[in-house]
Amino acid sequence: MSERLFVTSKLLTAAGIAHGFSVRTGGVSSGPFTSLNVSVSVGDTAEAVRENTRRLAEAAGIRPDIATAHQVHGDRVVSADGREVLAATQPQETGADAVLALDPGVAAGVRVADCVPILLHDETSGTVAAVHSGWRGTRLSIAARGVRALQHAAGAEPRRILAAIGPSIGRCCYEVSAELAVMFRQLFGAEAADDPAKTPKPHLDLRFCVESALAQAGVPRERIEQVAGCTSCDIDAYFSHRRDKGRTGRHLAFIAAK
Ligand SMILES: [Zn+2]
Repeated sequence: MSERLFVTSKLLTAAGIAHGFSVRTGGVSSGPFTSLNVSVSVGDTAEAVRENTRRLAEAAGIRPDIATAHQVHGDRVVSADGREVLAATQPQETGADAVLALDPGVAAGVRVADCVPILLHDETSGTVAAVHSGWRGTRLSIAARGVRALQHAAGAEPRRILAAIGPSIGRCCYEVSAELAVMFRQLFGAEAADDPAKTPKPHLDLRFCVESALAQAGVPRERIEQVAGCTSCDIDAYFSHRRDKGRTGRHLAFIAAK
């Protein structure tokens, strides 16, 4: 069996960073979780999720104990050992949506199924971050908070950071309410979403917003890569929370510190 387990970023690969955005093929889960699901919270068995994660880690050449967090669509940032690096800007008792790995060999990850996964690497310190950015996290510019957390915890310089924005629901498939479209146009400019005054069913471009947030945080545009793939369009490669009406698996976006 040589099924593909994950897709990668050219920028991070060129920098020698072990990382990946998992796809849905090459795992052992069945039913709606076929086959490379990495979350037990969706109803899959712990045994299958453990084996899927093991396969991913083995294929990527990293340790299987990838540090993740209980994701809550907030903007709190923690380190791989669970310590808070940046407090949430809005009341948030538990959970985190960005995880830093500060020590060589340690890996961090986030679980997604439509939300935007972002992997960051600071070339000066070797430290990395995995960030989960749905529309709520994108509104809070959580990707930029990941950059600031690396500055705070590792002395990273934004101009030395590489960023990969992974497969997620594309503008092609992401219809939103008029209220959300207006809000994101105000936050990130007219390109972020269709004008609901002209388009009755506006679509939102989360990946555009995430890239804007990273650029505003000081990451040079040429160091930001959009890794292609719409989770809703490509049913063979991806789980999609929206397309599959909630009954589906999760992908893991992971990266190891150098
Ligand atoms: Zn699409």
